[in-house]
Amino acid sequence: MMPTANTVYIGLGSNLNQPQAQLNQAIEALKNLTQSHLIKHSSFYLSPPMGPTDQNDYINAVVELKTYLQPLALLDQLQAIEKAQGRVRNKQRWGARTLDLDLLLYGQQVIQQARLEVPHYGIKQRAFVVLPLLEIAPSIELPNFGPLNRLTQKLANQEITKL
Ligand code: ATP
Ligand code: MG
Ligand code: MG
Repeated sequence: MMPTANTVYIGLGSNLNQPQAQLNQAIEALKNLTQSHLIKHSSFYLSPPMGPTDQNDYINAVVELKTYLQPLALLDQLQAIEKAQGRVRNKQRWGARTLDLDLLLYGQQVIQQARLEVPHYGIKQRAFVVLPLLEIAPSIELPNFGPLNRLTQKLANQEITKL
């Protein structure tokens, strides 16, 4: 029997070295990802940094993929793309970066591992994740939570511009 493809959502972010070009390059890399097919990507969004404020604003987007890669194999691929685009992991949490690729959702699976937590723990608090995700998947539901769109009101105070 053919295994079924899993629908996954990936959050993209950049605030270094031409962020829009970084996201475009990452989308190209995701189009070429093994055992996967890019379904769509959201618009790009501009928002102020989370955490340390002495860094540039961020460009964010969300991509929908269908993939046969298992979750940790997918995470490996995402981290390889980050690395290929010059991501340097420094001590500072939420510091400036050329590219961040976070696995937001993997179907309706719940994963709690040392290297991988899915759904990504930050989704619900972050307008720069929720808005682009809802743009491409308006009726998406989070496991053990329900429709994501019930969060839009609560996040309305966060500064974010759709480009
Ligand atoms: P945040 O996770 O708060 O958005 P960040 O994206 O800057 O911060 P990273 O430095 O990119 O954090 O990742 C730190 C670690 O998080 C990675 O080494 C990875 O193993 C782990 N991780 C856990 N869950 C996930 C996930 N769903 N997607 C990506 N990385 C994850
Ligand atoms: Mg992140
Ligand atoms: Mg990350």
